[in-house]
Amino acid sequence: MEFKEFGFSEELLDGLNAMRFEKATPVQEQTIPVIKDGKDLIACAQTGTGKTAAYLLPVLDKLVRNGHNKINALILVPTRELAIQIDQQMEGFGYFLDISSTAIYGGNDSGEWNRQKNALTTGADIVIATPGRLIQHLTMGYVKMDTLQHLILDEADRMLDMGFFDDIMQVVKYLPKERQTLMFSATMPPKIRELAKNILVEPDEVNI
Ligand code: AMP
Repeated sequence: MEFKEFGFSEELLDGLNAMRFEKATPVQEQTIPVIKDGKDLIACAQTGTGKTAAYLLPVLDKLVRNGHNKINALILVPTRELAIQIDQQMEGFGYFLDISSTAIYGGNDSGEWNRQKNALTTGADIVIATPGRLIQHLTMGYVKMDTLQHLILDEADRMLDMGFFDDIMQVVKYLPKERQTLMFSATMPPKIRELAKNILVEPDEVNI
């Protein structure tokens, strides 16, 4: 299936061309229409299947079409490496779009803390964060999440393996209840089902 069949905006299709993405992968074919419909989603998909673009593209398309008023989407991830990797992919797709993103992760570098604080207060459109560090920023009170419309959990099973269940639940308390929530996980153990029950509303399910 070609990307233009999803009805994406021209600017986004230009970005996809520049990145030499020609055809959608199976996970993209199945999840993009659900996400475009505004439904919650739980998707079982491994790394390497194109899961990142599966959620980034429809979210970016919505931001292009509906305008954006700062923190609009939050992507929670298990590691700093994944946060940076997603931020880089986002920059590739967003080359022709006026949409900003920032990666938020732990570490002791005070310059890096200040960069993150600045990005969160001026309000990036898309925030990609590890849960523990994001909570540190949220409890300081300067991050406004009232414009958020999309919450995405990427590699949710790995986040739970790393002990982030309570941190995720705490982050969710700062978010508007009216939002679209998407969860991507390579495996579906009972703890994932429990998390899904807590934060998703009548989700569609996709298994690759
Ligand atoms: P992911 O599963 O999100 O980690 O993606 C794995 C790799 O596939 C990344 O390097 C993506 O840039 C690439 N990729 C994702 N979707 C496509 C596509 N439709 N066409 C070509 N490459 C893709």
